[in-house]
Amino acid sequence: MAKEKIILTGDRPTGRLHIGHYVGSLRRRVELQNSGLYDKTFIFIADAQALTDNMDNPEKVRQNVIEVALDYLACGLDPTKSTIFIQSQIPELCELSFYYMDLVTVSRLQRNPTVKTEIQMRNFETSIPVGFFTYPISQAADITAFKATTVPVGEDQEPMIEQAREIVRRFNHIYGETLVEPEILLPDNAACLRLPGTDGKAKMSKSLGNCIYLSDSADEVTKKIKSMYTDPNHIRVEDPGQIEGNTVFTYLDAFCRPEHFDRYWNDYANLAELKAHYQRGGLGDMKVKKFLTAIMQEELEPIRTRRKEFEQDIPAIYDMLKKGCEVAREQAAQTLDEVRRAMKINYFDDAELIAEQARKFKAE
Ligand code: ATP
Ligand code: MG
Repeated sequence: MAKEKIILTGDRPTGRLHIGHYVGSLRRRVELQNSGLYDKTFIFIADAQALTDNMDNPEKVRQNVIEVALDYLACGLDPTKSTIFIQSQIPELCELSFYYMDLVTVSRLQRNPTVKTEIQMRNFETSIPVGFFTYPISQAADITAFKATTVPVGEDQEPMIEQAREIVRRFNHIYGETLVEPEILLPDNAACLRLPGTDGKAKMSKSLGNCIYLSDSADEVTKKIKSMYTDPNHIRVEDPGQIEGNTVFTYLDAFCRPEHFDRYWNDYANLAELKAHYQRGGLGDMKVKKFLTAIMQEELEPIRTRRKEFEQDIPAIYDMLKKGCEVAREQAAQTLDEVRRAMKINYFDDAELIAEQARKFKAE
């Protein structure tokens, strides 16, 4: 039988989702979900992982679970096609993590560049919680419990997927072919790999407060784009402007399509022409920002409207999540059974083991 094609990915409930999540992973997931090319799709809200660096703020995590679920539904994730669940409700994931910890060294964890950056961002240098330090292992459990083949994520997740692949290879080498090695699926558009924040900082991130949220009102979006970071040396309109590192152009790279010029700015045929004018000089930031605003409103308006509809029935969303957890738990339990068998810790359902030992001790 051909190997099943399974998608798995998730988000931490540390805030509402933003356009970085959208271009980095969310938009792709919805396409994959609807493509009919995958046998199963699992999407989860990583609350246990969020607690590794928010242990003293459980209320924040609790309140954001529903926010993330609403963003999912608003973007088009469909519970009839995807299993949407909450990480902490699947205890099998903890057990898997515990066994995987034997397969990873401390120095290997210390080399993870994303975790290194995140430790700095959180000023954890002298007091790193063990749970935070080891979250790449728990992430490997999340992925492998569902035998995921395809993980659509942003570039910051590359070291996590690599770690998961190493764990799978080591597990299968020691205990026999059991787990499935996942493949990362990065956005094809370079601007979407790691969308910068509105302040021009390396990554739009809930923890940095530099986000345009999917649920922001039209006014908030307009205001945020107006004050966005551009080229600090582009002072007068006549000055030549720089595209590289100019957040407005990075967002245009991520969101602009040729038809947007027909609709909102027919002075140019395409993005290349617009960029060339900006680089030559004679084009002010405000005009470009206005264009970006029109594009963003067009993209976000339907999401905002759908979210409002889903917000009318919160109990139904919890029901949906509960059902998702049940399906996910069944799948994880099945993988855990196979893992226990492979690791030879399945004593009570191994009749052969008991019979053989009985014979051995009688003969002695
Ligand atoms: P936190 O600050 O709590 O870590 P976050 O904003 O980094 O939050 P995550 O929940 O860690 O969000 O990431 C969820 C998914 O979104 C991952 O697949 C990640 O790669 C992707 N992602 C997050 N931020 C960006 C971004 N700025 N550009 C592209 N993808 C992103
Ligand atoms: Mg993150």
